[in-house]
Amino acid sequence: MDRRNPAYFDMPEESVWERAQAVSLLVSDVDGVLTDGSVYTGADGETLKAFHIHDGKGIRLLQDAGIAVAWITARASAALERRAGELGVTDLIQGSRAKGAALATLCEEHGIAPGAAAFIGDDLVDLPAMAAAGLSVAVADAHPSVQARADWVTRRPGGRGAVRELCELILAAQGHLDALIDDHG
Ligand SMILES: [Mg+2]
Repeated sequence: MDRRNPAYFDMPEESVWERAQAVSLLVSDVDGVLTDGSVYTGADGETLKAFHIHDGKGIRLLQDAGIAVAWITARASAALERRAGELGVTDLIQGSRAKGAALATLCEEHGIAPGAAAFIGDDLVDLPAMAAAGLSVAVADAHPSVQARADWVTRRPGGRGAVRELCELILAAQGHLDALIDDHG
């Protein structure tokens, strides 16, 4: 196994690498993971969110490698639906605080065991899904209890490339990353 570090993530311990090799579904929380946690609320009640382009590219790379991507959030917004549409993320579960159950449902729908799912989160509501997933990841600025229970903690905070780190870890562990980077010249 080529374990060169392509620099977007820090090499994890061997057990994390092995868990990443088994992932066929990446499930992500949204607020505080795909965003920095800010929720911009307009006077008319419209919600705006900022997503990082690096995370979007990481999701695209994962999909190109045949690894499914799903999002679970306790909130709901048109802004999120728009971003999911842009990235081809069709598994979008909104308004779910029972994230462990939502993860189980997603795994059933994809015909995989929870051990083949990765979950990345930032706050206490994410803990049940993290406990069920084969690879549990916390963003760098996650709640300390979430970081303590994660298999791996990203170097970057939520909304600033944390999801890209995890995407590239999974791709590297499964031997896809170098070829995907080469495809870009
Ligand atoms: Mg969150």
